[in-house]
Amino acid sequence: MLRAVYPGSFDPVTFGHLDIIRRSSKTVDELVVGVLNNNAKIPLFSVEERVKMLHEVTKEFQNVKVMPFEGLLVEFAKSLNAQMVIRGLRAITDFEYELQMAQTNHKLAPDVETVFLTTSLKYSYLSSTTVKEVAAFGGDISQFVPEYVADKIQEKMEKKECKS
Ligand code: ADP
Repeated sequence: MLRAVYPGSFDPVTFGHLDIIRRSSKTVDELVVGVLNNNAKIPLFSVEERVKMLHEVTKEFQNVKVMPFEGLLVEFAKSLNAQMVIRGLRAITDFEYELQMAQTNHKLAPDVETVFLTTSLKYSYLSSTTVKEVAAFGGDISQFVPEYVADKIQEKMEKKECKS
């Protein structure tokens, strides 16, 4: 059984992430989307909220699971008996960091292979950060994220406005 982990912050999940999930889930028996609980960053959504959103928008994929994790990715992969890590590559700017991560992870766990999927052209510009920026200025994000996620972002932005 081939199990892969697709790790990330997913703060929030975009159509770019979903494209990688859809395509990679076709090539493995089980895909675990690992949602990183990173104390070093202050996310817009809590890890529980990010997991919930991912659950909702990946419902249609039978072999996709969503789980939170913290700490080393290779330890998470090993705990699941996953043989593969999936990452998406958008542009050359992603490459340097991704190569470094993949090589470090290979040193730490030689049995876990990192596999890169290049982004679909139509999502190559898309990142969670830009979605949040557009939303913060009241822009239309419907072409970047599923409706369910857009509604959750809207709710967050309204709460933030109330606080300030
Ligand atoms: P990180 O938290 O590591 O910056 P993200 O949570 O934003 O990463 O994304 C997780 C993974 O999804 C990364 O491999 C990233 O390159 C990939 N990814 C993000 N956006 C896109 C996109 N638009 N197209 C393809 N891959 C993407």
